[in-house]
Amino acid sequence: MDKLDHISRTTRTVLAGVGDDKKTGAISFPLYHSATYRHPALGQSTGFDYTRSGNPTRMLLEETLADMEGGARGMAFSSGMAAITTLLLHFKSGDHLIVSEDLYGGTYRLLDQIFHKFGISTSYVDTSDVMAVEQACTQKTRALLVETPGNPLLGIADLHSLGKLCRRKELLFLVDNTFLSPVLQRPIEFGADVVIHSATKYLGGHNDLCAGVLVAADEKLGEQLYFLQNSSGAILPPQDCWLLLRSLKTLALRIERHCLNAQVIAEWLLKQPQVTEVYYPGLPEHPGHELNCRQTDGHGGMVSFRLDHAERAAQLLSRLELISFAESLGGVESLITLPAVQTHADIPVAERARLGICERLLRLSVGIEDANDLISDLAQALDG
Ligand SMILES: *Cc1c(COP(=O)(O)O)cnc(C)c1O
Repeated sequence: MDKLDHISRTTRTVLAGVGDDKKTGAISFPLYHSATYRHPALGQSTGFDYTRSGNPTRMLLEETLADMEGGARGMAFSSGMAAITTLLLHFKSGDHLIVSEDLYGGTYRLLDQIFHKFGISTSYVDTSDVMAVEQACTQKTRALLVETPGNPLLGIADLHSLGKLCRRKELLFLVDNTFLSPVLQRPIEFGADVVIHSATKYLGGHNDLCAGVLVAADEKLGEQLYFLQNSSGAILPPQDCWLLLRSLKTLALRIERHCLNAQVIAEWLLKQPQVTEVYYPGLPEHPGHELNCRQTDGHGGMVSFRLDHAERAAQLLSRLELISFAESLGGVESLITLPAVQTHADIPVAERARLGICERLLRLSVGIEDANDLISDLAQALDG
């Protein structure tokens, strides 16, 4: 892809792998299922020896992901949690991490119930408050893990200020970029050392794939993380690499529509009497709106909202016809969840209550359908 350096990222992503197979000129890059590779001679390698360590289809995917995030090295995993687990293997007993409190429930569970046992401690902090992050730093703090927008309340963390803080305190700056994708937000530009994705969400984009990604900003950390990936083995299989590569080619187009639809729906929700709060960074009322305008190219497709009664939330879920009541997000099809009983069920009740994750709170992943149809569906489900 070196020859395409003067071309925009979007174009490079669309053209990833095109014509790279010299034998056939294939437009769609080949899917290499081979588990192992013939050595040309003793002590020689084609660059591929064994598929856990490297696979041509995965390599193209990983290079494309690194290019999209502006990092030095990409790595593809069998799920977002596999990516985060591998990343956490970088730390050792005694290390302390600071983590966004408005966090994906699975990451909380992994830290709280698994890595905690290995002596890695965590403080959960409101990372939209830079002072609070600084105050949580101890002698043992090694990293800051941030989700922005947060999940499910879509709070915005200041990537530039947090990046500076991490450099000053010599912390690794880890950013889970699942909610916006590199089309809208590239944390490495703000000093992130590692970008994380659940590629099950926007990157995959069709609710048909489970995958995870790490992108390291620099080559040295990339090598260290690759060592952990190869040693622990949670790689993304070739077929899924090929599917994900195909998905990435339409990412920019999909994201454009997700953003347009989400904005229209958030504005509509704001006007409904049964809706008491709407959380969408694209609304001028959102406390992180201006910050998000500065650090992103758009506000994404996730909208959370609170209803007047828990019963109404339950009723809405059972009445929706086009929007599916299902976990996950980021696909072309709209999905809605009740975080308190689904994605965030592993967060202790008192902590959930403090954060405001109650049974009146719904999280909508706005798909790329016609926004008018989605609004009609929400309207009929809210009534009554
Ligand atoms: C879904 C999700 C994950 C976990 O990814 P999986 O692909 O489900 O393992 C991590 N972080 C965020 C923000 C997510 O939404």
